[in-house]
Amino acid sequence: MSRFEGKVAIVTGAAQGIGAAIARRLANEGAKVGVVDLTADRAQGTVDQIVKDGGEAFAVGADVSKTADVQAAVAAVVEEFGRIDILVNNAGITRDNLLFKMSDEDWDSVIAVNLRSAFLMSRECQKHFVAQKYGKIVSLSSRSALGNRGQANYSASKAGIMGLTSTLAIELGPFGVNVNAVAPGYIATDMTDATARRVGFEPEKFREAAAQMTPVRRVGTPEDIAAAVAFLAADESSFISGQTIQVNGGADR
Ligand code: NAP
Repeated sequence: MSRFEGKVAIVTGAAQGIGAAIARRLANEGAKVGVVDLTADRAQGTVDQIVKDGGEAFAVGADVSKTADVQAAVAAVVEEFGRIDILVNNAGITRDNLLFKMSDEDWDSVIAVNLRSAFLMSRECQKHFVAQKYGKIVSLSSRSALGNRGQANYSASKAGIMGLTSTLAIELGPFGVNVNAVAPGYIATDMTDATARRVGFEPEKFREAAAQMTPVRRVGTPEDIAAAVAFLAADESSFISGQTIQVNGGADR
């Protein structure tokens, strides 16, 4: 029996990278997945892969920092699959700059996409979770929550995810809802490739340097994060709540 047979999941920012890997992993283990990204066209690529692998998925276009989009996205998934059991708050952006160069827009957009979205999605999904006395919320924090040069906005948003997670675990635990977060270290995706280019490195060289600073001597893959998210979304971890699990190959910075 697959771990997520009969379950319905929503994964945000799932057109590529970590979100796409999470959506595929949950679908491979039996979940029906609402694949959310900025446009349904972008999300459709992940849906096509899931369907090719024999799974079930549905593409939804939504800017998850916007209340009306979030309400419509959750309603569309419930309409399509009849319920919602698992929410993965994965959508995220970077707008890196040192403090003296960081604009209001750099700050506001990162807080909105990385943190406000998790609040909005969690608030919308909890209606279903509380009514059915079952739900799982897993959000993406980051090792950068502990501080990272040039990322005051991103770091604050990812530390915010930790606070949101521990608070929602207290509020929703009595209703059968587990709330946890995963804090990845360096994962090879478009996001980290863009960071490499911004600081003047070829992505390949940047990854090699990151691997050398990581005790397990490699950078992470989206599948490494998907495995941790799947564990926290599954019933075997139902006594774990309010936690942020570091998935970073043992890296301390
Ligand atoms: P990514 O490759 O940039 O993918 C992020 C996805 O989110 C993209 O498909 C993006 O769409 C989508 N997105 C952006 N804004 C959105 C919005 N307002 N509404 C809906 N979707 C939106 O990033 P990733 O590396 O896979 O990262 C996934 C998550 O893990 C993020 O929360 C990130 O902060 C976190 N994380 C990543 C790393 C890492 O090393 N990669 C480390 C720690 C934490 P567009 O491409 O169209 O903008």
